[in-house]
Amino acid sequence: QLYNQIQETKGNIRVFCRCRPLSREESSNGCATVVDFDAAKDGDLGVLTGGSNKRTFKFDRVYTPKVVVDVFADASPLVVSVLDGYNVCIFAYGQTGTGKTFTMEGPEHNRGVNYRTLEQLFSVARERSDAFTYNLSVSVLEVYNEQIRDLLATSPASKNNRLEIKQTSEGSHHVPGIVEAKVDNINDVWSVLQAGSNASILCIMVKTKNLMNGECTKSKLWLVDLAGSERLAKTDAQGERLKEAQNINKSLSALGDVIYALATKSSHIPYRNSKLTHLLQDSLGGDSKTLMFVQISPSEHDLSETLSSLNFATRVR
Ligand code: ADP
Ligand code: MG
Repeated sequence: QLYNQIQETKGNIRVFCRCRPLSREESSNGCATVVDFDAAKDGDLGVLTGGSNKRTFKFDRVYTPKVVVDVFADASPLVVSVLDGYNVCIFAYGQTGTGKTFTMEGPEHNRGVNYRTLEQLFSVARERSDAFTYNLSVSVLEVYNEQIRDLLATSPASKNNRLEIKQTSEGSHHVPGIVEAKVDNINDVWSVLQAGSNASILCIMVKTKNLMNGECTKSKLWLVDLAGSERLAKTDAQGERLKEAQNINKSLSALGDVIYALATKSSHIPYRNSKLTHLLQDSLGGDSKTLMFVQISPSEHDLSETLSSLNFATRVR
């Protein structure tokens, strides 16, 4: 409905901007808010950059700190399109502490995109069960220093396996040897999500059989809680921490480059520049659908990181 309306006039990339509230500590320290939501209804976000200066950014949606329920409702049409055979990628980008995990995982009393996505997939699959059979499975992984780790692997041997990305003869990408946990209902999901808590990346694979003509299709949905985007300069890291920070920067800028190349219809899309973009390749570009939550802080102290995240998000839109 709504998503499809937007879809007709724009590409396949949506950007939703979500701002967290000031924390209790920030409020009690009298911290000022630099974000202005006067035109949030229209997708405009104002940022007070000092003096009387204001910059305005435009998004498909802007969520004020109080908004809770709408967030998933807006993502939901995109989620359902996985059952129609589309590949989808939803990710949260932003500085540490801005609500990426809050949006994707959510606290137990207010579950986030990951859980609600699976809940909705099961519910729509049930509604369509006269015409289609759906098989769902889930992988939980993280990319750490450009290596893929399977967070559902149980045996020590499989934990230490070097996982690589391979291309199938039909051209889709997969990770041979990774655990794909079959999930039949939302109760199965909870244990999988628990097993992979701290996880950054969730992949939901859907196998669809059309009961009318016997046709089978496969599609996948990636749900990604990205590493914090704060710039290296701020973290005076050394050794392993420095290497980690550099790899994080590498994969985030590679992601930015891929989405930018897609948004500007470049002839070369640099998927191979990082493990992350290589993994997500099937769900970024082509006729797949991408949704990015850019998460920001309202605090004056985070202004430069906020501007940097908003610039990143604007570049890809
Ligand atoms: P990140 O994953 O980006 O590092 P978190 O999701 O851990 O950030 O959020 C940091 C803190 O802010 C957490 O205590 C979280 O509960 C809170 N928070 C984030 N977004 C919201 C929101 N929209 N409403 C209320 N609290 C939020
Ligand atoms: Mg987090």
